[in-house]
Amino acid sequence: SLSERFQLAFKKLRGKGKLSEEDVNEALKEMRRALLEADVNFNVTKDFIKKIKEKAVGEEVFSTLNAAQTVIKIVRDELADLLGGTQSRITISSRPPTIIMLVGLQGAGKTTTAAKLAKMLKSQGKNPLLVAGDVYRPAAISQLQVLGEQLDIPVYTEEGSKDPVQISQNSIPFALSHLKDIIIVDTAGRLHVNETLMDELVRIKATVHPHEIMLVVDAMTGQDAVTAASAFDQALGIDGIIMTKLDGDARGGAALSIKAVTGKPIKFIGVSEKLDGLEEFHPDRYASRILDLGDVETIIEKAQAAFDEESMEEMKKTMKSGSFTFDDFLSQLNMVKKMGNMSSLVGLIPGVGKYKKEIDKINMDGKEFKHLEAIIQSMTTKERSSSNPKMLIKDSRKRRIAKGSGTRVQDVNRLIKQFTEMQKMMKMAKKQQGKKRGFMPRL
Ligand code: GDP
Ligand code: MG
Repeated sequence: SLSERFQLAFKKLRGKGKLSEEDVNEALKEMRRALLEADVNFNVTKDFIKKIKEKAVGEEVFSTLNAAQTVIKIVRDELADLLGGTQSRITISSRPPTIIMLVGLQGAGKTTTAAKLAKMLKSQGKNPLLVAGDVYRPAAISQLQVLGEQLDIPVYTEEGSKDPVQISQNSIPFALSHLKDIIIVDTAGRLHVNETLMDELVRIKATVHPHEIMLVVDAMTGQDAVTAASAFDQALGIDGIIMTKLDGDARGGAALSIKAVTGKPIKFIGVSEKLDGLEEFHPDRYASRILDLGDVETIIEKAQAAFDEESMEEMKKTMKSGSFTFDDFLSQLNMVKKMGNMSSLVGLIPGVGKYKKEIDKINMDGKEFKHLEAIIQSMTTKERSSSNPKMLIKDSRKRRIAKGSGTRVQDVNRLIKQFTEMQKMMKMAKKQQGKKRGFMPRL
């Protein structure tokens, strides 16, 4: 992957004390190859490498002792710049409703992203309304309706209507009368950019005057995503980009080229199929992620969003008391669940990028979580509030719990083992408290 290739280039630099200009050139060559192989636009790559070289020369890194660190920092900053520099937010109108229109090719992820975005905005205290503007396939409407139901967010549709312009327009008075402050319009896509599609989108735009037109592109399509972005921008005019499927085996090139080529910033990224798999896009953090320098800010934000203060306090108390019960285990599992996909989170920790495959394996899916939850809930109050797993040693108890939770005795055994492991970790964490941990690599 791009990340691994950069690591390799850096490793060669790190091994040396002082660097010669040749060492740096060698590393730059390696990076250039990595970028091109990741499907980054040729001219973008050329400019990028040139800039790094100029900076490295300008900062006179060659004879200094921490030359490698300086080069890495220069690369990170340039990457961040390439990705758009600073974070670009969406426009929220001071006079509601704010109208957001999602456009893009078929399969890019518009409908899923509409729901994800609505969920994100709802969690920020907004009152979103989803609008089903893809009227040609009945399945598209019901797809949005199902998502809306899951999120408890209303979806505006007009039965029998085949006019997305009218539907979008009618959604505005509906939003106003239902106190919705954000309208997210899902639109139809085509396999390729064509006139019929653009014409329809242009008419919706001219009628509802969206505050934000966001193009949804699939990262896996590489340079095609960049080409599509240019086409949509020319024909329709877009305000920003949402790049989906960055969790896949995307080579990453599209994310690195799209701003430089189109001038339009990435505002959000899709990182999983699930509805919490949308993140605001921070160029600097993403650059660190590519270089596997860790994205500590995102971890902290996700943790803060998931852990309300109360449960944080409780966790601290548990850690201090040193007694860790099955109930504590359950609330901890709940937190992990709320934090979303564990593997995507762990992947943000510096240096662990290369273990992503292993981590994906241990990733707890919803089904396993339900099992664990059911097992603990089938224990008696006394068992649950016990910190001694030996309490459950009797087979009759295990059978009772398995029966009550619709699981098997070996599932109960596994839970007890996981609980014991976690208990050990909590004890260690208690000992570690006060000791400072160096988390970010020094740059
Ligand atoms: P649309 O045709 O543009 O509306 O695309 P959909 O929203 O129907 O999405 C097409 C497929 O892409 C669906 O299977 C989605 O689950 C999937 N998808 C969308 N966004 C992401 C993402 O960020 N990551 C992954 N892995 N899959 C995604
Ligand atoms: Mg769709």
